[in-house]
Amino acid sequence: MRYLLTLFIVISAAMLASAQGNLEPVFRKAPEKYPLAAAAARAEGEVIVAIEIGPEGNVTSAKVISGHPLLRAISAQAAREWRFVPVTGSDLRSLVIQFRFVDKGWVLIDEGFIAMETRTESSFEGSNVVKVSAGLYVPKTLLLPRKDGVIEDRYCEVHNRLMEVELQAVSYGLIARVSDEDDYFERYDRAEETLFPNANLDSNRGCVDNGIENEETYFCSICRAEREKWLEQNRRK
Ligand SMILES: [Zn+2]
Repeated sequence: MRYLLTLFIVISAAMLASAQGNLEPVFRKAPEKYPLAAAAARAEGEVIVAIEIGPEGNVTSAKVISGHPLLRAISAQAAREWRFVPVTGSDLRSLVIQFRFVDKGWVLIDEGFIAMETRTESSFEGSNVVKVSAGLYVPKTLLLPRKDGVIEDRYCEVHNRLMEVELQAVSYGLIARVSDEDDYFERYDRAEETLFPNANLDSNRGCVDNGIENEETYFCSICRAEREKWLEQNRRK
């Protein structure tokens, strides 16, 4: 009797292991593209996706049961790419996958990338639980767009001279006129627009400090020199 019981336990354990093995994924995928809208909405939380697995081990259907509307599509999309061990027979297997999104908010990084972008980092916790940390990544240094890694040539529209590129510290804040009588800034703005539009000595980004520290900018050395000359002349007046 004891022998039989032991045998029964062993067989049950084997059957359970085999059933679990059938639901053991051989390939798992986490959502990669966290939508910009999701980052803006700081969408997070659990997305539950119910999948059905065909005999060959591919996902035949993926239905979102619950979760943030902005995270549903990317979760279902990732779930469809999961693969499982093939089995004999034609029965569909089913499994519930949990994607747990954690909003990382804004993350400042400085690895020389060009614009804001969203990224995800994921880890698998258990066979059907995926933790996804997602956030909006903001560069500390804004770079100019590149084509095949090369900054495109740009010519000064006044001097038709190939402009140089340099890194400038970003400043924040609004420039205010000192008084209505003082038209210096107005004259300066007009002169900058027409005489030396590419002097680019400043990199001003409005009044919100979002952590961007430096920015690549084009500048024309003639524009810059002429602006200096103009400033010098106007200071003497
Ligand atoms: Zn110029």
